[in-house]
Amino acid sequence: MATYDIIIIGAGHNGLVAAYYLARAGLKTLVLERREIVGGGSVTEEFHPGFRCSTLAGSPGPLLPRIIKDFQLERRGVEFITPDVRVWAPNTNGNSICIYENTKRTAAELTNISRADAERYPEFISTFARIGRALAPTLTMTPPDIEDLSAGELWQLGRLGWAIRGLGKKDEYRLLRCGPMAVADLAAEWFETESLRALVAARGISGAFAGPWSAGTSAAVLQQAANGGNPFAPSTLVKGGMGALTKALALTAMEAGAEIRTGADVINIQVKDGKAAGVVLESGEEIPAWTTVSSHDPGITVLELLDPGELEPSYRNHMQNYRAHGTVAKVQLALSALPEFIGLTASTAKEKLSGRIHIGPEIDYLERAFDAAKYGEISPQPYLDIRIPSLSDSSLAPNGAQVVSIHAQFAPYHLKDGDWNSRREELGDIVVKTVSNYAPNLRDLIVARQVITPLDLEQTYGLRRGHIHHGEQSLDQFFAFRPLIGWAQYRTPIKGLYLCSAGTHPGGGITGGPGTNAAREVISDFKRGNRK
Ligand SMILES: Cc1cc2nc3c(=O)[nH]c(=O)nc-3n(C[C@H](O)[C@H](O)[C@H](O)COP(=O)(O)OP(=O)(O)OC[C@H]3O[C@@H](n4cnc5c(N)ncnc54)[C@H](O)[C@@H]3O)c2cc1C
Repeated sequence: MATYDIIIIGAGHNGLVAAYYLARAGLKTLVLERREIVGGGSVTEEFHPGFRCSTLAGSPGPLLPRIIKDFQLERRGVEFITPDVRVWAPNTNGNSICIYENTKRTAAELTNISRADAERYPEFISTFARIGRALAPTLTMTPPDIEDLSAGELWQLGRLGWAIRGLGKKDEYRLLRCGPMAVADLAAEWFETESLRALVAARGISGAFAGPWSAGTSAAVLQQAANGGNPFAPSTLVKGGMGALTKALALTAMEAGAEIRTGADVINIQVKDGKAAGVVLESGEEIPAWTTVSSHDPGITVLELLDPGELEPSYRNHMQNYRAHGTVAKVQLALSALPEFIGLTASTAKEKLSGRIHIGPEIDYLERAFDAAKYGEISPQPYLDIRIPSLSDSSLAPNGAQVVSIHAQFAPYHLKDGDWNSRREELGDIVVKTVSNYAPNLRDLIVARQVITPLDLEQTYGLRRGHIHHGEQSLDQFFAFRPLIGWAQYRTPIKGLYLCSAGTHPGGGITGGPGTNAAREVISDFKRGNRK
């Protein structure tokens, strides 16, 4: 007899969100996490004595509003810090662009660069806010099985179509055209300033094996707008780093009745008579359960944790073709002081550097950065998304010192020459050199450096081929196609085995969407008595 109704593999934020909803529904739930800490991609770790930062994700995606409310995050002391600056994009000549939370302020500053762009900017923001609102309900819905639509699914699609019709013809066409477009084209349709185009394009390629001229990269801009009502990525920080958020999620899940075990590496999902029966840990311990929900990467869950004979070959083959080409590395720097960026003064630096710092001044720069990855090379001039979280949260570094956390693209998982263990420091040097072009005194301030390669993302954090979203977020792996067409409803061909990670709809980012949606499907199956 199984002791648990549910086993959840992995205590990333989606696993924790699912655990809470399942435990709250009265199901006896056990979460098994391989690492000694919970959080997955949303963790705070000390990388040098006294210096801590959000090791991987730096900002929530944002989280679904429902999660903030249900988990009572504010009451639990989770503090979100939203700087006025969303992103500041410097150029080596001292010019820069700054996107603020406030649209009017941004437009006013843009007049210094281009009157036309300043005039278009408010319309750009409001258009994506409207389109985002129309698309937002998709985040909390289970994608339909488009090969076999049920009446309920037709109804949901109808409501979505209705919301899109409600946008009016102009926005409706914009939306339909936008999805398949290259983000470079989208940016050029709106703006004339090259550095502003590059800033818009950055959202389309973040985390992707794609450059701004790749088809379909505008879809990520739409998704960002659906997530947070803004086409630019948010700069919100969590006080104490992203680990403070997932610790609170874990506590809430435990209060609802879930058990969480860390240091519990699942090596096999057991199947009996075609139905999930529990898991085996690396220690050899077997834990039976009626249902298993994996917040691990779909590829690893299906291809490595299940015995091959348990699955119909076509599903396995399709999963083998589920694309995940990691392109991201992370470099964290412990600095003795704040670096001096070209074009900033002591009085402007603190504010301008408080949000994201975008390095990638031209569309061609971003495309060339991707070109290198296509051929298995580390980009010699990478696109960088930099944060200095200690500016807003002094708990992360000793007094006066700073932590710099750099998301670097492109660093391909598959290298043409050598391997990541021998080329780690080369990557670190490239990143430091690139930032130094904008902050010349950076090198003199470095106390310590941590370089996290795509191989580390796989080996330490469990991300297959180092893909930050558990699989490419391209149009062919989106919504009803995520992870596979016909299997986007969080279920798998094995009864009682579900997927709930970023590899399922609505995909990557600290949103909690996959965990919430998957829990709803599991609960509905339990209610129908199909599973027990
Ligand atoms: C470098 C980087 C930067 C990012 N930046 C951002 C950002 O700024 N904002 C944002 O919103 N998103 C960002 N992301 C994406 C975000 O981190 C992911 O989309 C998110 O973490 C996915 O959450 P998850 O719960 O689905 O999976 P994960 O966070 O990957 O959690 C899966 C969990 O399963 C555990 N696990 C794996 N194998 C086993 C096993 N065999 N047994 C038991 N447990 C196992 C893992 O240890 C992990 O804890 C970033 C990701 C990376 C890598």
